[in-house]
Amino acid sequence: MKVLITGGAGYIGSHTAVELLESGYDIVIVDDFSNSSPEAIENIKKITNKDFSFYKCDINSKDALSAVFSHEKIEAVIHFAAYKAVGESCRLPIKYYSNNISGTINLLDVMNEYGCKKIVFSSSATVYGEPEENPMTEDFPLHPFNPYGTTKYIIEEILRDLYRADNEWGISILRYFNPIGAHHSGLIGERPNGIPNNIMPYICLVAKKKLEKLSVFGNDYPTRDGTGVRDYIHVVDLAKGHLKALEYIADKGICDSINLGTGCGYSVLELVNAFSRVNNVEVPYVITERRPGDLAEYYADPSKAEKVLGWKAELGIEDMVKSSWKFISNQQF
Ligand code: UDP
Repeated sequence: MKVLITGGAGYIGSHTAVELLESGYDIVIVDDFSNSSPEAIENIKKITNKDFSFYKCDINSKDALSAVFSHEKIEAVIHFAAYKAVGESCRLPIKYYSNNISGTINLLDVMNEYGCKKIVFSSSATVYGEPEENPMTEDFPLHPFNPYGTTKYIIEEILRDLYRADNEWGISILRYFNPIGAHHSGLIGERPNGIPNNIMPYICLVAKKKLEKLSVFGNDYPTRDGTGVRDYIHVVDLAKGHLKALEYIADKGICDSINLGTGCGYSVLELVNAFSRVNNVEVPYVITERRPGDLAEYYADPSKAEKVLGWKAELGIEDMVKSSWKFISNQQF
């Protein structure tokens, strides 16, 4: 089966590419390198010792996408290509709505044209907004509260409408919790671009002495140590979830949303302490004000993924902090 991965040079896309290649799939990657680099493509090949087609292509160009579909016999798509910085999405909402939503509409249009009706979509737990309770199940109400989350929500709605209109489509909407970690080879991972917003790349740059100290955003939340609690999931586990999702939609019309998380929450301080202990490296930090828009605590109920996909996260917090550090230690900044 030949699978197109949009955004396949990015953080989650590159790990998914590796898992697909290692499971015997043919893949085609399109990426415009807006938040990734050609090195990731080379490293996917190095890890797997396999070759594949790559197109430097912006999914906002329908002609460029059509050209890919006319050259390759694409049978399914895993769609990652999108802007993902929450803070930037609040400053530049049009950039986010335009790129994320128009790009997806182009992609769906071209897929329809070529009779390719299988898609795994990279959504986010952000679509839920503030939960009334934890753990979060897929039937919780959807109330995103920043433009990035709203783009994911709108695309989910487009996909649900598409399925209502034509139930030959096989659509799997995967709602990720907080992906961290890197491939055990240390060759691919999350390479921060500028000063990171997310916690793990920030911790890594502090440990590497590129940033002075971590700001822990608030220690007065109603959580066990007062700092924010999140469901961190190893990116390799997450990547494997995409293979299961592809199998799930392969031979049927369906549109289903599924959480990918571990079901287990860690606080900011627990994460920092695990990172220092496992990697034997110091992470100086200071407690600061809460970051506007942050929630106290949320974590997944991952039981639907286990039930319908036969998927369960296997790697623990030690693997996550160890592999993140291995990747960043290898990088030049
Ligand atoms: N966080 C922090 N310092 C940072 C970045 C994040 O204390 O420099 C906290 C944040 O308040 C939240 C958790 O780390 O409790 C995860 O934040 P991240 O931005 O990685 O993901 P989010 O859950 O916001 O999508």
